[in-house]
Amino acid sequence: MASDPVGCMKYVVVTGGVLSGLGKGVTASSIGVLLKSAGLRVTSIKIDPYLNSDAGTMSPFEHGEVFVLDDGGEVDLDLGNYERFLDVALTRDNNITTGKVYAKVIEKERKGDYLGKTVQVVPHITNEIQDWIEAVAHVPADGTPNTPDACVIELGGTVGDIESAPFIEALRQFQFRAGKGNVCFVHVSLVPVMGPVGEQKTKPTQHTVKELRGLGIIPDILVCRSENPLDSETKSKLAAFCHVGEDAVVSAHDVSNLYQIPISLHNQSVLGMVSDNLGFSVPESLPLLDEWKVMADKFDMLEDEVRIAMVGKYTGLSDSYLSVIKALQHSALAVNRKLVIDWIESTNLDPIEKTQEHDDAWATLKSADGILVPGGFGNRGVEGKIAAANYARVNNVPYLGVCLGLQIATIEFCRNVLGLEGANSAEFDESSPVHAVVFMPEISKTHMGGTMRLGTKPTPFLVDDCKVRRLYGGTSHVDERHRHRYEVNPDLIERIESAGMVYVGKDETGKRCEIMELEGHPYYVGTQYHPEFKSRPGKPSPPFLGLLKASCGQEI
Ligand code: GLN
Repeated sequence: MASDPVGCMKYVVVTGGVLSGLGKGVTASSIGVLLKSAGLRVTSIKIDPYLNSDAGTMSPFEHGEVFVLDDGGEVDLDLGNYERFLDVALTRDNNITTGKVYAKVIEKERKGDYLGKTVQVVPHITNEIQDWIEAVAHVPADGTPNTPDACVIELGGTVGDIESAPFIEALRQFQFRAGKGNVCFVHVSLVPVMGPVGEQKTKPTQHTVKELRGLGIIPDILVCRSENPLDSETKSKLAAFCHVGEDAVVSAHDVSNLYQIPISLHNQSVLGMVSDNLGFSVPESLPLLDEWKVMADKFDMLEDEVRIAMVGKYTGLSDSYLSVIKALQHSALAVNRKLVIDWIESTNLDPIEKTQEHDDAWATLKSADGILVPGGFGNRGVEGKIAAANYARVNNVPYLGVCLGLQIATIEFCRNVLGLEGANSAEFDESSPVHAVVFMPEISKTHMGGTMRLGTKPTPFLVDDCKVRRLYGGTSHVDERHRHRYEVNPDLIERIESAGMVYVGKDETGKRCEIMELEGHPYYVGTQYHPEFKSRPGKPSPPFLGLLKASCGQEI
């Protein structure tokens, strides 16, 4: 593909109406996949109209997982969808929030950049938003030095929200800045079904489009979430009332799995519509989309199950572990198994809690093929996680500990193999007799008081051969993403290692234990980093692939 197939940057702006949680992010990333299939280099921007600067301080209970980028940006989990769907690496600037925009404008005002003018939402905030979008859209994202050809922008929230108003206004103005034929507006809405005959109701969509048009944005394509494909009558009605062509009314009906969404959109000519709007040509054959289809169909065909017990504390809210789930799915696909995740609330495994929930939780744990302890903060449920790690170690059950999961396995090992009674992490018990895990902050150079070790850091392998190194293809080091403050206590490393738990990868100072592997066990592995953030469909994260392989009884 020529490096400049489209002439200038093309933008697809995805807005949402009626209610949140319609899968706007997945729709936007699927459109990105279509653009990429047509040979365009694609990047993306997620706009979150909340006042927080980033997602770092937000509770996973409320907002789902905090996604971590290479540069240490703690961002909305939708950025994870974009990275996975488009196989790109984004930066913290690809997530724009109201907090960040205001902070920038206020900083400029303090420096006197506005030359005494009254600083206002329009034009100062709206200009800042447009400058930001334009700058970030041009940042290479696919691992090459090439500027992207297209940028998919998703506006979070719902049209009509007070807080999204400045962004809508900025995007309205932006169509003129970017120029005619360079911006395509896609609005995602809901078509509910009501009554005994299951009538598809168009009124909510009519209203949200009316609202959007009232704000000056005319959608080029309308994507309607619905249970079943839209009837032709529904489409005609929406076209008539929403000022879009009938062909431009697309149904985003339920599909068997997420990977089918780009295919479904393509079958409804979305790529053709976007290319008509933006003026680029689409080649005859689309090999990337063909691959995507093979993957989506394979996903549906898998029958043999593999059961992974996920021992965590937000288990009722799977969004809190979205990337972990995705990494498991990518790996399950690679070993041709249908993934079943058994969610176990770690407090229920606590050895001193003898309740029905406790018995059920243990029965579930014992029936799993593999056990995963994901990342986490705070001491609730820690004893249950330690019990799960103990069970996996003693019974040769495949175990993967991610971040906190590595620390948990280390505490368990110190207590039960080294006999260090009461060993714990300083995070959970400052006064414990042995700190197996200690506070080892990394002082941020950019943020006052920032102590979290964040983003991509290199981890060299320290042994020539081990399971994890084999899984990574024998490479000398790995570059993975971090988000933690605590580490295995350097004073205990020698004792732990001489008892058979080896930290096969450490940071370049040799003090921070990054990859743990237990000798003589089918797969008992931990990583201080979060490998899930870099897992991709078709390119599963190696430590996760190892867990799945071992859980299916395959050699590593
Ligand atoms: N709470 C632990 C720490 O800060 C683990 C963090 C995590 O799992 N992301 O080190």
